[in-house]
Amino acid sequence: SLKILDTCVNCDVCEPACPNKAISLGEEFYVIDPALCTECVGHHDEPQCVVVCPVECIIIDPAHAESREQLEDKYKHLMETK
Ligand code: SF4
Ligand code: SF4
Repeated sequence: SLKILDTCVNCDVCEPACPNKAISLGEEFYVIDPALCTECVGHHDEPQCVVVCPVECIIIDPAHAESREQLEDKYKHLMETK
């Protein structure tokens, strides 16, 4: 999963760009739900939130580091439970 840093300026462009609806406004700035973020695996070649974010405040979450295979499994699971 990716994670949004506190340098987020709450511009809201990433939320609609996320194919998994993993992004929402948290208490102070936007947040990513690690259970829903596949790092865009299954949908796009690149993480769309990172592509659109104007301040480059989205990074790999060290607390939720996942392999390509784990991300693919998460994608499949999310598609099945949709
Ligand atoms: Fe959503 Fe993709 Fe960003 Fe994860 S990497 S939060 S799935 S846009
Ligand atoms: Fe925050 Fe970047 Fe998303 Fe804008 S695009 S809300 S700055 S994380």
